[in-house]
Amino acid sequence: MEFSGENFDVIVVGAGIMGSSAAYQLAKRGQKTLLLEQFDFLHHRGSSHGESRTIRATYPEDYYHPMVLESSLLWEQAQSEIGYKVYFKARQFDMGPSENKSLRSVIASCRKNSVPHQVLDCRQVLQKYSGRIEIPENWVGVTTELGGVIKPTKAVSMFQTLAIKNGAVLRDNTEVKTVLKVKDDVRGGVTVVTSSGEEFWGKKCVVTAGAWVGKLVKKISGLELPIQAVETSVCYWRIKEGDEADYAVGGDFPSFASYGDPHVYGTPSLEYPGLIKIALHRGYPCDPDRRPWGPGPLLDSLKELIQGRFAGRVDSSGPAATQLCMYSMTPDKDFVIDFLGGELGEDVVVAGGFSGHGFKMAPVVGRILADLVLSGEAQGVELRHFRIARFKENPKGNVKDYEEQVSFSVPPQ
Ligand SMILES: Cc1cc2nc3c(=O)[nH]c(=O)nc-3n(C[C@H](O)[C@H](O)[C@H](O)COP(=O)(O)OP(=O)(O)OC[C@H]3O[C@@H](n4cnc5c(N)ncnc54)[C@H](O)[C@@H]3O)c2cc1C
Repeated sequence: MEFSGENFDVIVVGAGIMGSSAAYQLAKRGQKTLLLEQFDFLHHRGSSHGESRTIRATYPEDYYHPMVLESSLLWEQAQSEIGYKVYFKARQFDMGPSENKSLRSVIASCRKNSVPHQVLDCRQVLQKYSGRIEIPENWVGVTTELGGVIKPTKAVSMFQTLAIKNGAVLRDNTEVKTVLKVKDDVRGGVTVVTSSGEEFWGKKCVVTAGAWVGKLVKKISGLELPIQAVETSVCYWRIKEGDEADYAVGGDFPSFASYGDPHVYGTPSLEYPGLIKIALHRGYPCDPDRRPWGPGPLLDSLKELIQGRFAGRVDSSGPAATQLCMYSMTPDKDFVIDFLGGELGEDVVVAGGFSGHGFKMAPVVGRILADLVLSGEAQGVELRHFRIARFKENPKGNVKDYEEQVSFSVPPQ
């Protein structure tokens, strides 16, 4: 089918979770929407593939909390529209040294935002999780209600299907080369040009290009966004025989994060029977078009943590499976959601730099992007922290009072 030369209300570039969610929101609001993807739909070369992502409301920053709450509702709404499940609820458990500033900020933010939570010492943790989680004497644990697992590839497919059902046009294997301002005051809008020379006209354009967003924005406007692609890996570990059900989703085992060094996150067992995902929040900076494709980060610190925290009931000798993926890191780990500005003004909206914690937010990000292109502003959300201009004021972006949560290193040669 040939769409070249066609006109659209909105053209979305990049069909990961953010672009797919935005396309669904736009099509649902009656916008003639085109979603373009450089590779196959549901490919494994970006950030939105795989079997599980964590959702949690525990953030050190106050501004993410209302976004998670809205997203949680929108995940439920979307899965009821499609008729299958992508969001498996669990409670969330955060743990770490009691003096860890990030964890202390998480607790302070829970208090400030009236998030029901319990702070537990090591004995209470042992009791609460019936010996499945152990923390040292000088650590604390925090339990909260909103947690769980989202199935990423299935969720991307869900939003794409819902977008199509609402009239959107989806096209893969179509790389966007640039986006040009139409210099005709009557018509206005933008022309989206593909690498094969096709052109599409749109009143507005949304760029959700994941780890490629820096490269594409540079081509479109010359602007250098401080967004670094990072290759990371997730690891699955074998639960000791006989204990599998104790760590499975649907019981009382939580999604979890461990603060400090190493920063670790994980989900209850769901996607692979008998295996539990426990991964390091770290990786190697890379060019998304010249990936190292492994090896993942060294696992010594993770093995030690698994041995200590899971009461010897998870085999820490080595992962049973690993998968590679990409983060797009900003210096302050906050998202970029803004108009591109310059000559393109409010015709192009960019959303990127989701810094390894964006998946859970995709429904609200899609809603925000649709609001921005249609009305120029997004209701009920504070976008100040996500502005591009923050890097002009301070190259490190938003100032935070706690330590880095993601560490980068150079891969072993
Ligand atoms: C291992 C791992 C674990 C994570 N865990 C969590 C978690 O537990 N909780 C959480 O909330 N988040 C998590 N995240 C982060 C989350 O997955 C990402 O923030 C999210 O997937 C980013 O989606 P995206 O749509 O911005 O990027 P992508 O999924 O990469 O989508 C961008 C798309 O744009 C396409 N594209 C790029 N350039 C062009 C072009 N020129 N023309 C056309 N198409 C183009 C790309 O091919 C790609 O398909 C994790 C990420 C990883 C890698």
